[in-house]
Amino acid sequence: MGLAQSRRLAIFTAAILPATYFLFLLPIKSASALAAWSLESNGILQLRTSTGAKLKAFFQGPLPGKGPRVWIDFPGELIRPRTLLGNGPVKEVRLGKPKDGVTRLVFEFDASITLDPSALKLVGTSPDRWRLNFVGLPTSGLRRIAEGDLTLSSSLRRTSPRSIQPVKRKLKISGLPSVPRGRFRVVIDPGHGGPDSGAVGLGGIRETDLVLDISLQVAQLLEAKGVKVNLTRTSEVDLDLPPRVAIANRLGANAFISIHANASRTTTKRDVNGIETFYFTGYRGLRLATNIQEQVLKVSPGSPDRKVRQGRFFVIRRTTMPAALIETGFVTGSLDAPRLASNAHRRQLAIAIAKGILNYLKEVR
Ligand SMILES: [Zn+2]
Repeated sequence: MGLAQSRRLAIFTAAILPATYFLFLLPIKSASALAAWSLESNGILQLRTSTGAKLKAFFQGPLPGKGPRVWIDFPGELIRPRTLLGNGPVKEVRLGKPKDGVTRLVFEFDASITLDPSALKLVGTSPDRWRLNFVGLPTSGLRRIAEGDLTLSSSLRRTSPRSIQPVKRKLKISGLPSVPRGRFRVVIDPGHGGPDSGAVGLGGIRETDLVLDISLQVAQLLEAKGVKVNLTRTSEVDLDLPPRVAIANRLGANAFISIHANASRTTTKRDVNGIETFYFTGYRGLRLATNIQEQVLKVSPGSPDRKVRQGRFFVIRRTTMPAALIETGFVTGSLDAPRLASNAHRRQLAIAIAKGILNYLKEVR
């Protein structure tokens, strides 16, 4: 790339918020801050990112036989770099990983296109929204190219979601059962995130935040006990969510645990509370679910035992290893919701889930 020809675009941020919302407890690469993007047929690019993400945008003028190129760098990595075929003035769109920890969204324009970089501005319209008008781009034949759900968090904002700050201090592992170090691998799947934030409950608590915090703690506890752990996501947003099950299957893990919080369909029904764990099939799946349910009930006094049940959720149905899905309580329940919102209770839940998993691993080793 001719450096002289490439230049940084002006960036205007609507609001600067603390850069990292989630503190990572494990040395895991963060997922891409890019949650959704859409190049509209009027030549306007819209982006949704994680809140407060720092973006960089660049322009490169045409090279012989090639049109101009505009790219935007986001913190965090994609799981699946890819190229999308363009249309009209857009030759192709690429999502890549130019280096570790960076996601790059590239718009490659047709050789016939000229753009004036001084007219291009990436504008932050809210802490998680961005807009870039490709001024001067001929839009004839341009059809919308997009991935992810742009509308998502604006609708959530109306319910004033509350931020859950993950526990920062190191967790104590005394009292957890021991298994042979290095023998087992477990995949922890914090339910939802990305296009689907899951349930929103009393006081605006969001399932996606709660279960991510619990999952990160479970992972930390298990790692401290010598269990290899993989998380299907480590941040709030990730464009690449669908291959969760594929990741787990490829890793050949000993167990897959999806962590969720429940919601009653009618959010006014505050009297619905309780703990339930699902498995899809098999004795091992049943044992995994039973061990987890048992421990979680112990730290949730008064919350009804909704039992271990068979469920057909995609993540436990399509995984090839014993799999369980725990519902840690109702975000809509008058008993469960305030508990789930408390750091201390989520720590208890994490310890309980880790204990259940370790007990299961001891049983089957
Ligand atoms: Zn859920």
